[in-house]
Amino acid sequence: MRALADLELCQGHQSCQFEAPLVFGYDDETDKVTVLDEHPPETERDNLVRAVRYCPAMALGMED
Ligand code: SF4
Repeated sequence: MRALADLELCQGHQSCQFEAPLVFGYDDETDKVTVLDEHPPETERDNLVRAVRYCPAMALGMED
């Protein structure tokens, strides 16, 4: 499983950190998401799915 973030699309809403705090972080200087764990364990799948679904900017993705 791989977590993807498009920094061009990210608008800094930070809901992804709430949904998947082990996978996504936040860079205060750039106001953009950071990927903390590009290949998260299977136990993070549900959190990652929610983060992708609820990102208002549709900046996140995942692939197996
Ligand atoms: S929820 Fe989306 S727009 Fe907000 S910080 Fe995360 S990736 Fe960026």
